[in-house]
Amino acid sequence: YNPAIQCISFEIKGTKKEIMDQVTVAKNGKVISITIPKTSKYLLDQFSFENFINEIEKFEVTEDGSGVITINISCMGDSDFAYSSLDGVLTINIMGEYVGGDYALKLKKPSGVTIQSVKNEDLYQSNKFKIIISGNYKDFYDQNPIAISSNVITGVSTNLVDGNTEITVSTSKLQGYKIYEKSDSFVVSVGDPRTIYKNIVVLDAGHGGYDSGATHNGTKEKDLNYKIIYTLMKGYFSSNAPDTKVYWSRSSDVFVTLSKRAAFASKVGADIFVSLHMNSASSSSANGTEVYYSPTNNSSSFSGVSSKAIATLFKNNLVTRLGTINRGVKTAGYYVTKHNTVPAVLIELGFISGSSDYGKLTSSSFQSNSAKIIYDTINEIFTTYPTGRK
Ligand SMILES: [Zn+2]
Repeated sequence: YNPAIQCISFEIKGTKKEIMDQVTVAKNGKVISITIPKTSKYLLDQFSFENFINEIEKFEVTEDGSGVITINISCMGDSDFAYSSLDGVLTINIMGEYVGGDYALKLKKPSGVTIQSVKNEDLYQSNKFKIIISGNYKDFYDQNPIAISSNVITGVSTNLVDGNTEITVSTSKLQGYKIYEKSDSFVVSVGDPRTIYKNIVVLDAGHGGYDSGATHNGTKEKDLNYKIIYTLMKGYFSSNAPDTKVYWSRSSDVFVTLSKRAAFASKVGADIFVSLHMNSASSSSANGTEVYYSPTNNSSSFSGVSSKAIATLFKNNLVTRLGTINRGVKTAGYYVTKHNTVPAVLIELGFISGSSDYGKLTSSSFQSNSAKIIYDTINEIFTTYPTGRK
């Protein structure tokens, strides 16, 4: 499958086999002409060709005085065709060169479906994303092919999963996407993340896999980090067309090296990097919140923002709203902050070993509050320091 080639396939049926067997198809420049002798123009009215708008410039049906119908398909690019006639059904395949278009994907909208019943899932670690429509529309999309006009899309498959329609889009590299609703379709823009999103954040749940981080009373730091910054924050960023896009350095309980975490910010074109950890000390009297940045990664970035400025916002908001002890903004050479290409902070939310912090860190309401405060602070950062992208 060559992603630069689009294949459009449609069928014409509803008339006699003897007539369909006499159909001729010819190509003249960018125009493909289908001639059907002595039949009714009516049979063509039921077909909608709007799905193919990116490939087909014009679709005309004419009838001469003797009942001969000619269908002229004017293609945007230099296209080729193949056709077959079997049991009164004429199938025509048009294979066109990539011609671009406003949107990478265009899906016809089933009647009664709105964007409210559409969800999305970004599988960015495997260069895929899913468009999930509530209900069974597999047959609908088999009959109304999804129009592709981006050469970065390497495949689109439609599957029925738990009664919902999952459209999986594969791309040749990590891509951002936004799904919009139009009057008769859903359209999807696809491109490098920085061309798609106004703001991009990497959220980094510290530790993972065999690396539990600090532990106390059977509670593992890696699980607290993950629950707060992934599980409880995921819903804040699930919109079909978000202004702020989040990429998580891990989205399961796996070990990821520090160098991969830092490099991930560059890979996704992030604006800022936020790592979450829980502190630990030998004395249970150590309690409170501190936020770190690296003095060697503190240069002025978009709108003049710096790692220190971000660290200060996080520290202030967390301490004020959670009521934890203020241990301040601190500097250290932590790998993920020091070896990052964007403003980066590391939050030590509280002490897993702390006599007063342990109960807080393991409480559901404290965890939800922490997730909300981190979310609010991300919004505050991009409001105070606009990236300049739209
Ligand atoms: Zn840690």
